[in-house]
Amino acid sequence: MQLTTQPTGTPVTVTYWMSHAWLGTHVEPGVLLEVSGGRVAGVRTGVDTPPPGATALHGLTVPGLANTHSHAFHRALRSTVQVGSGTFWTWRETMYRTASRLTPDTYYDLARATYAEMALAGITAVGEFHYLHHAPGGTPYDNPNAMGEALIAAAAEAGIRITLLDTAYLAAGFGEKPNRHQTRFSDGTADAWAERASLLQGDDDLVVIGAAIHSVRAVPAEQLATVARWARERSVPLHVHLSEQTAENDACLAAHGRTPTRLLADHGVLGPATTGIHNTHLTPEDIELLGASRTGTCMCPTTERDLADGIGPADALQRAGSPLSLGSDSHAVIDLFEEARAMELNERLRTHVRGHWTASALLRAASADGHAALGRPDGGTLEPGAPADLTTVALDSVRTAGPVPRLGAEAAVFAATAADVRHTVVAGRHIVRDGRHTRIEDVPGALASAVAALHR
Ligand SMILES: [Zn+2]
Repeated sequence: MQLTTQPTGTPVTVTYWMSHAWLGTHVEPGVLLEVSGGRVAGVRTGVDTPPPGATALHGLTVPGLANTHSHAFHRALRSTVQVGSGTFWTWRETMYRTASRLTPDTYYDLARATYAEMALAGITAVGEFHYLHHAPGGTPYDNPNAMGEALIAAAAEAGIRITLLDTAYLAAGFGEKPNRHQTRFSDGTADAWAERASLLQGDDDLVVIGAAIHSVRAVPAEQLATVARWARERSVPLHVHLSEQTAENDACLAAHGRTPTRLLADHGVLGPATTGIHNTHLTPEDIELLGASRTGTCMCPTTERDLADGIGPADALQRAGSPLSLGSDSHAVIDLFEEARAMELNERLRTHVRGHWTASALLRAASADGHAALGRPDGGTLEPGAPADLTTVALDSVRTAGPVPRLGAEAAVFAATAADVRHTVVAGRHIVRDGRHTRIEDVPGALASAVAALHR
């Protein structure tokens, strides 16, 4: 490896040789990628063998994957919520019980292990939709951002980028105070939320601080503009859960005489820096409003099917002008390849037609459009100047062997799983090497102990 080292030990120049790289439209064999200062400094094609000093990445290398929507603590619910039957609303009761047990220390342990799982799945950036702000009962911690800062520290330890979408969550429903579970989420008013969120610090590279409106249920209409203004003044992303459930639409129509999308539009929430999460149950006018304003859509298909939400109109949204990104949300599984193909396969089931998105289009949703939604519009390509984030998928596993390498994107999107990720590089740093996390030796062990601590 060609490498010079700063006094801090941070590698500033490194060269990766990729046996195959997806360059946005096609698979290219033998590509050399030079990294300087955490960014792509040069790309050379037609390099048949790894030059001396270069780190070889065998398989298909794609730009680092972006997990646009995450609630880290939901990882503790995996499998426990698969017993019995129910709805989104009964699932939520179990989720609240887990939330009630978290402290800054246990939140850090769980998030560190969860983000390490993401790194092993080829994810280089996470959008953490964070609403668990205060101690049980709603009392602020001495450091009012102790929970958010635990998440930022966890991402740093796991070696991935984080966009902390600090979330305003002020009400249980239209005109309803927070219930006993939700007091931990609420700052009381949007102004108080803004005051606390303003104390958080990003670094414009690995850590971006953004904003979120939990949903139209959770932020009173007259306070929506306060959160939107805060994000706009800082030019940071603004995310919002939108029409995941028909009950939310019904309650919004009863309270305000308009759909959640129309309510957000009327209060200045929509726009190109805004991403609606789910966007499942929309009217044709909602789709037009989201598309015309270039508001993004983050689909979370593995969660939406797990919670029996329904299938959102991703194809129609994209045609109207809404960029599509993907998130693992409740972490029923953490696998961006599965999210990508599920979006396409859901549409096939609904329409009885195959091929709504190409493998390349699905990879763009899993990378470039996700990074843009997380406040990094230059992410998700392997071009000079882009953040040097790489994900290498094996093309010789039992799932991916067989197709010729030029079909590598199709193999990755339609057949690979997170278990096929061999390398993850973040800002030029080799975070996952040959399928092993380079900083956290025993990720399954870390997950097991972090989850067990919440069930004691
Ligand atoms: Zn969510």
